[in-house]
Amino acid sequence: MCGIVAAVSGFNVVPVLIEGLRKLEYRGYDSAGLALLNPTLTRLRSVGRVAELAAQAEGQVAHHGIAHTRWATHGVPSERNAHPHVSAGLAVVHNGIIENYAELKQALMADGYVFTSDTDTEVIAHLIQQTLKSTPELFAAVRIATARLVGAYAIAVLREWDDCIVVARHGAPLLLGLGEGENGGNYAASDASALLQVTRRMIYLEDGDVAELRRDGIRIVGADGTAANVPADRPVHQSTLSANDVELGDYRHYMQKEIFEQPQALAATLEMIGGAQALTPNLFGVAGPQMLHDVPSVLILACGTSYHAGLVARYWIEQLAGIACKVEIASEYRYRVSVPNPQQLVVAISQSGETADTLASVKHAKALGMGRTLAICNVAESAIVRECALRFLTRAGPEIGVASTKAFTTQLAALFLLAVTLAKQSGRLTPEQEAGHLAALRHLPVAVQKVLALEPRIQAWAARFADKQHALFLGRGPHYPIALEGALKLKEISYIHAEGYPAGELKHGPLALVDKDMPVVSVAPNDALLEKLKSNLKEVAARGGELYVFADADSAVDEEAGVHVLRLPEHYGLLSPVLHVVPLQLLSYHAALVKGTDPSTSSGRTISYLKKFAPVGR
Ligand code: GLU
Repeated sequence: MCGIVAAVSGFNVVPVLIEGLRKLEYRGYDSAGLALLNPTLTRLRSVGRVAELAAQAEGQVAHHGIAHTRWATHGVPSERNAHPHVSAGLAVVHNGIIENYAELKQALMADGYVFTSDTDTEVIAHLIQQTLKSTPELFAAVRIATARLVGAYAIAVLREWDDCIVVARHGAPLLLGLGEGENGGNYAASDASALLQVTRRMIYLEDGDVAELRRDGIRIVGADGTAANVPADRPVHQSTLSANDVELGDYRHYMQKEIFEQPQALAATLEMIGGAQALTPNLFGVAGPQMLHDVPSVLILACGTSYHAGLVARYWIEQLAGIACKVEIASEYRYRVSVPNPQQLVVAISQSGETADTLASVKHAKALGMGRTLAICNVAESAIVRECALRFLTRAGPEIGVASTKAFTTQLAALFLLAVTLAKQSGRLTPEQEAGHLAALRHLPVAVQKVLALEPRIQAWAARFADKQHALFLGRGPHYPIALEGALKLKEISYIHAEGYPAGELKHGPLALVDKDMPVVSVAPNDALLEKLKSNLKEVAARGGELYVFADADSAVDEEAGVHVLRLPEHYGLLSPVLHVVPLQLLSYHAALVKGTDPSTSSGRTISYLKKFAPVGR
């Protein structure tokens, strides 16, 4: 999903729309466009960068406008598929996917509507236009039309001669920005960073909301059809994002910035344990003492990188608290028949707190009778936080890079706190052990800082990965999920096919693939599994595989022909996975740079515009 910006104001909104799209560029996109009312409709679209759209928009003046950066899901990236999509004087921008678009399209075509794109989005424009025949008010028509959409969407709609913009969301983020003063106007965007230029006063829309923006006010109707009052039902948040949070500063890419922000993100996340020698379940909310008591089992629900954080947490929760822990991919759990346990603690992990599958899986768990729910999220006002009874906010700051880095390590810190709290609640922790775990957590930012200092050596390794087609990542115990995360980062950022394996599984299949063209990365901390891991490494060496080992200072693994060893400064006990993921993040980042793929974006897009972002070096 890419970006939406909408603005209605007493002054010219074109610069606001363009600047908003610029702020959303970090999410990657394949085309951009905007629609303005002057008071008839002007539509501008470009398959190039926002800068090209800005050049087209030069000299345009309008008080109403909607703008979009697209990441194609239906129809190739092209000008005809770029948003906005129009239907006789009405224009729509959309983030998300309309699942029932084919049947709607058929019905609309039968009714005489002519389609000029291959997108799912265009059905929204015609559907609203069709609804307007019987319901002339735009706001009401959007409410009726969106009720027929199945899927995920955030949309913004405007119509010739009208004086409002109507927006709606279901399963995709959208927020309103309230302008201040005489010409302040009102705004909407998929991401707060796009609106900081005009306001800090934000309202996070809820799923099913439809809102109308006018120059002098807004109105919102919720999913149940009743008017939502501001601020009683939809509080106004004062955004605390600083320009520094969303600016690149001296870094070349957000991914690099965020990797290097990990020490401070961890320190901020752990701030609330400060000088404490003991933990309290209230850390997770007022209902913490009651809900984290007598927990029979834990079910963790998450997607992608957050799922890997959950997999690490399983080792901690079972080892420290002696509580059975299952980790499920949210998109699987929500659709499968499972055996619920109403007493079970359900933990949802998501950076944004808006991950559609994770949100739906929590709702599913609640519908199955599981009321003990905990959100581990980075965004306080997010849908998942609102859905759960308990919350722990990671305080990583905005994560702008598409590849999750600081969100992951702060999630791990939060999950470790949860494991220790559960262990304490189950009476399995002496005060000395508790104080020891807290001291280790407090030292984490410094420990991560030392690992970051390895960047130049990792950079040199990364250069050797750039011409490879495949790579294998191995780990054991809680470092197996770290191997999975290392593989995910490499494929996501540098498009090198990579798989993570528990090292013990090597001989059951993947070893057959190992040869000199398949680098094998191994996470080899100095723990109880090191000797076992070393035998796995021998198996790789015997096949002529090139091994890259991330060891601890005191891991007894030696450099030899075909075996490259890089030592992390200290062995970090149970929290070692937090340190060991950092070099893997750096490896994928630098492999992407050498390969010329764009670490700002993900999922298979080789984008030459990277070169247009003037690299400033760090
Ligand atoms: N599904 C729409 C399209 O392919 C919207 C994609 C997006 O979220 O940018 O045009």
